[in-house]
Amino acid sequence: MARAGWRPVLRAARIGRIGVMSLPSDCLFCQFVDGSLETEVVGQNQKAIAFRDINPQAPVHVLVIPREHYVDVAALAAADPETLADLVALAQEVALVEADGEYRLIFNSGPTAGQSVFHVHGHVIGGTKLGWTPA
Ligand code: 5GP
Ligand code: ZN
Repeated sequence: MARAGWRPVLRAARIGRIGVMSLPSDCLFCQFVDGSLETEVVGQNQKAIAFRDINPQAPVHVLVIPREHYVDVAALAAADPETLADLVALAQEVALVEADGEYRLIFNSGPTAGQSVFHVHGHVIGGTKLGWTPA
């Protein structure tokens, strides 16, 4: 009987660990949304904001994030697909203004893929001819 409860407990532990990494109260990007930390906002709509990456990898490097906290793009898509659509629309608006509408939109998901901030964000990258060397 002990084993019957083992898997759910493990799953809960994993969810808890991820939750600790990404609690909105100590989330950097939630603090940009609520204004308690300043950043260079370049666009916004009702559901999302866009701001410049502090360490740009291209002439245009803007992050688009939902105002609500979700850990990654899959979590956002599952919980609130309309907000994901608004996020993509904002990325497109920024790219139209800053990169003639030609850009890459990247969502790193998980540390191995390069995710370091666990509030979902799309990287809007453009303004130059882009290479294709992720590894
Ligand atoms: P990730 O590595 O999670 O896909 O992307 C996180 C991004 O957030 C990185 O590109 C990093 O440069 C950016 N970033 C980290 N800290 C700050 C910050 O304080 N302000 C801004 N504007 N960007 C940040
Ligand atoms: Zn957050």
